[in-house]
Amino acid sequence: MVERDCPPALNGALPSAGATRRRLISVAATLLVLPVLPRLAQAATILAVRTWPADEYTRVTLELDSELKAEQFTLENPHRLVVDIEGLTISAALNDLVSKVRPDDPYIQSLRVAQNRPNVVRLVFDLKQPVAPQVFTLKPVADYQYRLVLDLYPKIAQDPLIAILNKQSGPDVDDPLARILEDIQRNPVTRADPPEPPRVQGQQPAPPLPSTPKPPPATANRGKQRMLTIALDPGHGGEDPGAIGSSGLREKDVVLRIARRLKALIDSQPQMRAYLTRDDDYFVPLHVRVQKARRVRADLFISIHADAWIKPTANGSSVFALSQRGATSTQARWMADKENAADLIGGVNLGSHDRQVAKVLLDLSTTAQINDSLKVGNAFLDEIKKINRLHKNSVEQAGFAVLKAPDIPSVLVETAFISNPQEEALLRSTSHQDKLAQAMMTGIQRYFTANPPLARLGDVS
Ligand SMILES: [Zn+2]
Repeated sequence: MVERDCPPALNGALPSAGATRRRLISVAATLLVLPVLPRLAQAATILAVRTWPADEYTRVTLELDSELKAEQFTLENPHRLVVDIEGLTISAALNDLVSKVRPDDPYIQSLRVAQNRPNVVRLVFDLKQPVAPQVFTLKPVADYQYRLVLDLYPKIAQDPLIAILNKQSGPDVDDPLARILEDIQRNPVTRADPPEPPRVQGQQPAPPLPSTPKPPPATANRGKQRMLTIALDPGHGGEDPGAIGSSGLREKDVVLRIARRLKALIDSQPQMRAYLTRDDDYFVPLHVRVQKARRVRADLFISIHADAWIKPTANGSSVFALSQRGATSTQARWMADKENAADLIGGVNLGSHDRQVAKVLLDLSTTAQINDSLKVGNAFLDEIKKINRLHKNSVEQAGFAVLKAPDIPSVLVETAFISNPQEEALLRSTSHQDKLAQAMMTGIQRYFTANPPLARLGDVS
């Protein structure tokens, strides 16, 4: 059609009324097919690329405006991970990913990006060690669009028990973990050969945490004080920043700082050691935090968070325990829902075997655990109220996924409202972080003084 191919300005003449109408119809027809045709041909747009290197696993995230399919395979000599992403063309954002590989990444040596086929981009990760990769997609949630997630796990999962070796017990302390560790070192097979979980079709399971061997009998250790292990759980991490204050302070960063301070205080006690469920900026799924605490046979589990509320005036610290029968208030239920959403934002592979384990674990909580958790929580409130206003004077209860270890007293501390500018400033200050850590340390000591730890199951011959 002349009218369409040759606009009036180039034609040198004004079009007739009939020609204009034909052109309008033609334009309208083009508009009708527009939403369909270009989508088939157009490549997806990369909105952001992120890497989260950590000892436990390295995550690479591509955030996109549409969901994309990816296939992966590994190669040896040298070790490489190859990921083919369909529907992509090379872009500046993809090249940016290459520069986001950190020299200290435990898994990735370097990354190469190339257009493999017209519509397929190939990422080749040169590896520092062989990996068991998980590749999966996440639907839009919170501030994120579609995410394509590449998780690079080690072939053999790191054992939390090894991480805890940083503190040996003295000669006067009975340490069931030391005996387990000796056993592991004598029989490395126990650690290196964890049971294989059932595989879910099409999914690569995360490497399982090794099962905890029973400690040998403690006949020689009767009368000694027992070593206590406290699991500290800094909330959020990696893709999940948690709440963000008006000056930009992120919950995931400040809670890690507080947890590290508390760990130092605990480790300085002769009969205590602390274990961090994460000690870096990466995401740990909620049930994995619980599994880790159980693996190190923790006597106490403390999840550390910072609150947020739409009104900047909301303030004060609160402590939560698990509830088996609904929440003690709407605010507690809301808080549990918000914290439980961490898995969606942080990004969990929904197809993996881990999710089934999580479900089973979550149904095992016991009344005894909750009663002990309330005692810990009250001791915490008594101490925290000396350094900050309390949001609620009693321990609140709701269905927090991270508090569901059936055999470990577990509390979640909302240290302050990061959404309140004054409390955000407090949280930022190292002196207040120290005060919070000290308050929790005293709370832990008060709890164990009033409730002396019993010999663990399996400790008594
Ligand atoms: Zn939180």
